[in-house]
Amino acid sequence: MRYFKADLHIHSCLSACADIDITPLRIIKRAKEIGLQVIAIADHNSAENLLTASLIADREGILLIPAMEITSKEEVHILALFETLDCAMEMQSLVYRSLPEDGLANQDPVYQLVVNEDEEILDFNGKTLFGATSLSAADIVTKIHRCGGLAVASHVDRECFSLISQLGFIPPEVAIDALEISYSISMKAALERFASYRHLPWLRNSDAHTLNDIGIAYTMFKLDELSFKGIAAAFKEKDRLRVRRE
Ligand SMILES: [Zn+2]
Ligand SMILES: [Zn+2]
Repeated sequence: MRYFKADLHIHSCLSACADIDITPLRIIKRAKEIGLQVIAIADHNSAENLLTASLIADREGILLIPAMEITSKEEVHILALFETLDCAMEMQSLVYRSLPEDGLANQDPVYQLVVNEDEEILDFNGKTLFGATSLSAADIVTKIHRCGGLAVASHVDRECFSLISQLGFIPPEVAIDALEISYSISMKAALERFASYRHLPWLRNSDAHTLNDIGIAYTMFKLDELSFKGIAAAFKEKDRLRVRRE
C-alpha cells in the first residue's frame, strides 16, 4: 500500500460562485503541477462538466472521481462521489427533477459554463444550480447510495450550508460516509468541536473556486489500488486517511 494525494472537492466554471477560468483543463493541469493524484470536480447540483473532465483526466493520467455537491432543501451541502460517470449522470437526473422549474428567468445573470476539452463554451446552463433542491439531506444521501456513491457532509465547520450549521447535528437517518473539514479550521479545533463524530472518516479538501486554491487542503489516502473502489475501501478504515492543509 502507498499514499496518494487527493483533493476531492473542486468547483469548475459550471458553478456560478467559481471563477470563469477554472475550466476542467486548467483544473487538471494545476492538479498535476502540485502533485495531486486524485481529484473530484464537484459542481453545485450538476455533473455537466464531468465528461470533458474525464476525457482530459484520462489523457493526463490523473484519477478523476465523478462528483457533485448537492444542496438539500434545508440548505445543506452534500458532496457526492461516484464510481462512474454514468452513476453521476443518474444522480444528476434526480437532482434536476428537484430544482425549481423557472430556472434563471427571474434571477440576475450568472455564468454556469459547460465547456469542452479546448475550453470552448458548449452551453450556458440556465438552471438555478446554486439554489436548493426539494430533496431532504437524508433523501440525498439515500439516493447517492442507490447510485453506488459515497456521501460526504461538506465543510461541517462552516457557519452556513453545512449539515451541522443547518440541522445542529448529524441526524442518524442522514447516513453519511465521511465528514469534510474545511481549510479554515485547525485540526485541534476540529477535534474538540466534532469529538462526537470521530467514529467517521474525516476528509480535508480545498473546495476550490479558483485555480490557486486547488490543493490548499487535501487528504492522503493509503491505498492498494488507485481507484474509486480503493478509495471506498479506505473510507471503511479511517486510519488510512490523513488530512492535510498547506
Ligand atoms: Zn459547499
Ligand atoms: Zn463546494
